[in-house]
Amino acid sequence: MKGVFNALPVVAVLASCAAPASHDIAFPAPSRVPGMATYELAWDQARGDLVATAHVAAGLTGSFDAEGGVAPFISDATVEVVASDARHEGASRALVHGTDGFAAPECLKAACVLRYRVRLREAARALDDLDGAKLLGGGEVIEAPPTTFILAPWGAPRTTHVRFRVRTSQGSSFLTGVFPSTEPGYFETTMEDFGSSPYSAFGPLTLRTVELPGGQLLVGMVPGGYPLPEHDLLLWVEKCGRAVATYYGGLPVPREAVLLVPAGRGGIGVGKSLAGGGVTVFVGIGAHTDAADLDEDWVLTHELVHAAFPAQPRELDWVEEGLATYVEPIARARIGGLSDQAVWKGLVGGLHFGLPEEGDRGIDHTHTWGRMYWGGALFFFLADLEIRRQTNGKMTLREALTAILREVSSNAHRGDLAHAFEVGDRATGTHVLTALHAAWSSTPVQVDLDALFASLGVRRSADGNEVAFDDAAPEASLRKSLTARAP
Ligand SMILES: [Zn+2]
Repeated sequence: MKGVFNALPVVAVLASCAAPASHDIAFPAPSRVPGMATYELAWDQARGDLVATAHVAAGLTGSFDAEGGVAPFISDATVEVVASDARHEGASRALVHGTDGFAAPECLKAACVLRYRVRLREAARALDDLDGAKLLGGGEVIEAPPTTFILAPWGAPRTTHVRFRVRTSQGSSFLTGVFPSTEPGYFETTMEDFGSSPYSAFGPLTLRTVELPGGQLLVGMVPGGYPLPEHDLLLWVEKCGRAVATYYGGLPVPREAVLLVPAGRGGIGVGKSLAGGGVTVFVGIGAHTDAADLDEDWVLTHELVHAAFPAQPRELDWVEEGLATYVEPIARARIGGLSDQAVWKGLVGGLHFGLPEEGDRGIDHTHTWGRMYWGGALFFFLADLEIRRQTNGKMTLREALTAILREVSSNAHRGDLAHAFEVGDRATGTHVLTALHAAWSSTPVQVDLDALFASLGVRRSADGNEVAFDDAAPEASLRKSLTARAP
């Protein structure tokens, strides 16, 4: 599933006098970078506070805000104007949160410096929301995306760069999926992508790096009772990453964060990814997860596939979810991590959920669970088959998807769907994606799945729990090619 950032309006009364007079960690010195907003953040693990100093180039905006419901937990906010020779001019003035966020009209005329404190642990305790702020690992780790702790220039041009650095204290660390800046030690994104910037975490994380072709997964393990040794968990992360990297000819992004969190009593639990200027996957590890659960897990591979397609608007969630649902088992099969039996059992058992039902208005306009996950999967399944048919097996959906990833974007940035499908079609020398989308977009198109499975030589057993293969079926070789091992 994809995390959704809800930019809910927050009506807040700021009590800047609520914070104690003395603090352990001082406000960092500002870093003055022309043309952008630069944030120096210091994490105080003992207090659970983040103290921030931002330098904002002149004229970007006259108001700043934090999202995700965190604004009421911001205190000690001040602004001061910086003279053109970079000397501070005059005294700072307190900033108060109002309906337009923290209004600082003086920043429209000159560069300015903002200082503020985010009572992040307090916010996480109150909000308990992954897209706002949330306590993890018994309260020692706080997860919060940058949208919540960066007082951002929301009104600035979308091309405006936002750069930030986090210094941590008392044995804590900081993990984020935001891509590193060209300036060492900093992370950097633009206001275009900032609104869905990835999950990030502060606290006593165990940080590990999993190297894979094309990039690395930065694994942050939230402390707590894991049912398996770290080594086993990292091998599982490596295997899921390798499935995706093998499918796409390298990891979709050069650097992706994976936040592992002890959660719940079962096996591998909720998986969510949030992408914008970088990508973070969040996965819950249940207390009863065993080696077999890791072996059979689909969640992490599904989440890692999400990184490979340009971000789509919410109404086109079927593209992102359908793609991850379809590619995940194929990618695992290609590295020998899933049997042909299991792949087809999944397709036979799931694809019928994706068929249009009464009242369906086409895949772009019908936002049900079935259409989003399995309707989308059916779209890419049919596209994969058709590309192979039209090119006599020389081309597959994989060539289309890798071209889209390379030429349009990863999930860290947005990309127009029509353009992406054109790029994919050009790579395979077909019109399959564009034509199928044109047919499905606003019209419910029925698919005779029984006839299709019969043609491919896939039969469901009498009890429906297993599948059997018929190699004499007309398209049996097409079926076999779909799950063939990667060379
Ligand atoms: Zn998903």
